[in-house]
Amino acid sequence: MKYHIWTTGCQMNVADSQRVGSELEKLGYRHTPAIAEADVIVLNTCVVRQSAEDKATGFANSLKPLKQQKPDRTIALMGCMVGVKGNPRLKKAFPHIDVFMPPSEPGPLVNHLLGRESVPQEDAALKTRYALQDGDLILPAHERYNLVTAHVPIVYGCSHVCTYCIIPARRGIERSRAIGDIAAEVRSLVAQGVKEVTLLGQIVDRYGYDVSDGPRLPDLLRVLNDIDGLQRIRFLTSHPNYMTDDLLQTVAELPKVCEHIEVPIQAGHDEILAAMKREYTVNDYRRLIDRIRHFLPETSIATDVIVGFPGETETHFQGTLDILAELKMDVCHSAMYSPREGTVSAKVLPDDVPPAEKKRRLDLVNQLQEEIVTEINEKYMGKTVEVLVEAKHRGKWKGRTRTNKLVFFEDDRNLKGKLVHIDVKWAGPWSMRGKVSGTVRDDIPLRIASYE
Ligand code: SF4
Repeated sequence: MKYHIWTTGCQMNVADSQRVGSELEKLGYRHTPAIAEADVIVLNTCVVRQSAEDKATGFANSLKPLKQQKPDRTIALMGCMVGVKGNPRLKKAFPHIDVFMPPSEPGPLVNHLLGRESVPQEDAALKTRYALQDGDLILPAHERYNLVTAHVPIVYGCSHVCTYCIIPARRGIERSRAIGDIAAEVRSLVAQGVKEVTLLGQIVDRYGYDVSDGPRLPDLLRVLNDIDGLQRIRFLTSHPNYMTDDLLQTVAELPKVCEHIEVPIQAGHDEILAAMKREYTVNDYRRLIDRIRHFLPETSIATDVIVGFPGETETHFQGTLDILAELKMDVCHSAMYSPREGTVSAKVLPDDVPPAEKKRRLDLVNQLQEEIVTEINEKYMGKTVEVLVEAKHRGKWKGRTRTNKLVFFEDDRNLKGKLVHIDVKWAGPWSMRGKVSGTVRDDIPLRIASYE
């Protein structure tokens, strides 16, 4: 019996799909990349923009013939299209789909399959083989001992109400996972070959805030830093209001936590930030970046901006360009505003920036960011960086620096999963190229080698 998972959207969906794969493997199913061969097909959907929703709808519709060919095939739809409350309209729209699952919850599919006669029962051998405890994550067979980096959700949902955002409606209120569960999961991932984990949350730096006297992200980082065999830890996405000195100090102190911070600004003018209900000002953000650079002088910083938010004038937009030019961050994820049904902005704020103007603003942001990152990356030329090697890509090894820069290099040895030092010979805006220098390590990570 085989399964196939189609995933679109954010890293949280990638992590959710992995967990669905894990549950299916425990039931004895095996992954297939060929959808027509699958007995179980899962579509993990995203609705953050209309284009993402259209893509998922189109794909769901395209599965009708596969269901007709093999009616006992199970098709499941999960993720933000379903949402935590379910969506009765979907049953009508997709009568060929058997199961609808909220984000991060494989339970309905597992129950559906266990209720069927033709389904393999729990694969006890798998549990014994890997000495699995409850809560351990067994990677799908094609990823076991083959995956160098993995995503680990630590906070589900979000209790903020940024006016443009559909996440709270679809992923529910903020729920932090227990520190012991996360640590057990990370240990099980490391036992299956994973060297780097990225901790995920819509507001990852609010980890534990929903639990009275709960642990905080620094506590979790300390626990994970002690896991033998784990080489690197990252976390995303942070909200500017929760980046405490304690957190930054902890990142600076713990050798496995990488110097890379993802903290969106979203807009560069206080009036737009207020309309978005982001609860900080441009000056607050400016001070935050100063603070981050004070504690972590070597860090890279990624931000997000939305252009064309309702009411965004040329002056407001210029504010966004100005703050990006001033703060010079390493990455800017940019997007055009897209009204989503069920959000405050879609209800009360007219989408009044014409599409062509949104596109012009997006292009200007991207152009500026390319200049900024070109300048930043040029400083890496001639330096030595530590790279965790992830995979081979078109004959070259591919990996990332601690600061999350993509690096390619050639080497005949099998270096997958190793930490190597690379002398940077060429640096462009989106990647770098270099040569291995010195020894290859797979034990304790080093701080950035000599890149100052
Ligand atoms: S913080 Fe705001 S933008 Fe981020 S997920 Fe929560 S509501 Fe959405």
